[in-house]
Amino acid sequence: MNSSALVILSGGQDSTTCLFWAKRHFDEVRALSFTYGQLHAREVEIAEDICREAGIPFEKKDVSFISSLSHCSLTDASIQMDTAQPAAGLPNTFVPGRNLFFLSVAAIYAREHGIHQLVTGVSQTDFSGYPDCRDSFIRSLNVTLNLALDDQFVIHTPLMWLDKCQTWALADELGVFELVRRRTLTCYRGVPGDGCGHCPACKLRRRGLEEYLHRKETAM
Ligand code: ZN
Repeated sequence: MNSSALVILSGGQDSTTCLFWAKRHFDEVRALSFTYGQLHAREVEIAEDICREAGIPFEKKDVSFISSLSHCSLTDASIQMDTAQPAAGLPNTFVPGRNLFFLSVAAIYAREHGIHQLVTGVSQTDFSGYPDCRDSFIRSLNVTLNLALDDQFVIHTPLMWLDKCQTWALADELGVFELVRRRTLTCYRGVPGDGCGHCPACKLRRRGLEEYLHRKETAM
């Protein structure tokens, strides 16, 4: 693909893998990160460091007003984090509107830079119950953004149908397995690399990693 792409980068495993996927598939890549009042805001510093080292232009935008609109355990330390999927409803780690805001802001930003390819690390396979990680939402928003801005954006979701094990495999294939493993911050409690090991994000990441390492070992 001969064009420029904007990657929505959180500094976690998924979006960092997408950053290097984009680097392989597009001529020019830029990254955009968001602060939204997340308690694990260190992820944004990590995102910036990774971009600096990879020579990728990086910018961050503050959209922390979204955390004043609703309450969730990623932005409010007084709420005890759900560590498992609740029997009904969404886990309290869900930030209402997050991907809607992020992608909308990213599209406006991309338009200013003459970029039409947007890349996001959402996955329906490992979506943790978050409705805004589903393929139907992304397709719908893609149409809406094109109508809203009279543009022709394409939202790329390289991880949409991959599970965490396959996402590790992709990072390995892209030559950034160690970087993703050691440097990125997926943990909701803000611990980089292998993380705290107990929050839902760490559990998902670790399960996939163990599966991938096991598969690799048995394939040798
Ligand atoms: Zn954790």
